[in-house]
Amino acid sequence: MHSTNRFGQLSSRRLGRSLGIDPLLFTTCNYDCVYCECGATTVKTVQRNAFSPLDAVLDELFRYLCSSPGRVFITFSGFGEPTLSLSFGEVLKFYL
Ligand code: SF4
Repeated sequence: MHSTNRFGQLSSRRLGRSLGIDPLLFTTCNYDCVYCECGATTVKTVQRNAFSPLDAVLDELFRYLCSSPGRVFITFSGFGEPTLSLSFGEVLKFYL
């Protein structure tokens, strides 16, 4: 997965099937917490950005959903603060 850095599907005791999506590039966050599991923040910003092209994210998600039918919970996470991504809302709308 190049465009979204999707970090894949995992089994969750709480959610069942869970798909993690990372819409960021590098470690991008508005904080730089010393305890962050991602390490030091590479891009510290409060500016929202596209980071990954929306079409590529939706295409990748669509292909995943077609190849793995059934209920899946989507988790936005990864290397930083995923709400900084401008594609965040559009991906939610696509999936809902
Ligand atoms: S991703 Fe979370 S823990 Fe890491 S720097 Fe950002 S706010 Fe802190």
